[in-house]
Amino acid sequence: MPELPDVEYMLRGFKDYIIGKSVKDFIILDRKFVKISDRLISAGVVNSKIREVIRKGKYILVFFDSGFTLVLHMGMTGWIDLVSKSKEVKKHDKFRLIFKAGKEIRYNCSRKLGKIRLTLDERFNELSGLNNLGVDALSEAFTCDVLGFLLKKTDSYLKSFFINQSYIAGIGNVYADEILFKSRISPKRKTSSLNRLEVKSLYKNTKRILNKAISNYNSINKNNNLLLNRRKKGQKCPNCNRKLKIEKISGRTTFFCSKCQK
Ligand SMILES: [Zn+2]
Repeated sequence: MPELPDVEYMLRGFKDYIIGKSVKDFIILDRKFVKISDRLISAGVVNSKIREVIRKGKYILVFFDSGFTLVLHMGMTGWIDLVSKSKEVKKHDKFRLIFKAGKEIRYNCSRKLGKIRLTLDERFNELSGLNNLGVDALSEAFTCDVLGFLLKKTDSYLKSFFINQSYIAGIGNVYADEILFKSRISPKRKTSSLNRLEVKSLYKNTKRILNKAISNYNSINKNNNLLLNRRKKGQKCPNCNRKLKIEKISGRTTFFCSKCQK
């Protein structure tokens, strides 16, 4: 499932190419999934230039010089690829955004949970999902002080706090567990119970783990010291070799070590 490192990695794969490029065509391959009218596509996308592309949490926003913004949510399985136009269309490809320069981007999503919208620039922040998105975990606005402030605003389990997109945007189930494991703090600790050092450790590990996951994207699933490669029943803690605990917290399967994480 795409989390912040996945979305950031896929974005870096096409961002430099598409900025400044003119759109030749936008072809919808699945009209049940992409509910944008032909009229809106001609007004907002075709013959427009891409001004900017940004990531907000797990969303990607594509700004056109027509004043419209294409809002893409990755859901559980959404993925965007930059390909040559001769590449065969895959099952579950939802649209093709074709550039005059030759290449195109394709959005593939095998489950129905992704979302695609086209809206006027100044209104994208009003869309549900984006209108209550918290500070992005990789942005400069996310500082240790901000984390400390957000932790004090609530009194929930740390795990629930980390996956709640209205506090910090971009961290999902798997990376929340990884950050807590690296910080040696239990997912069941209450946010209000943390001391200054623990907050610092959570902050440092959030940045470090996410940045590493992006820069080592293709080799991350071979790193044996990470919890994310041990998310199976019966697996052991990479630190102390004790069997990992598996519990549901806020409805999400949580892996942790009851000895290393206090
Ligand atoms: Zn352990």
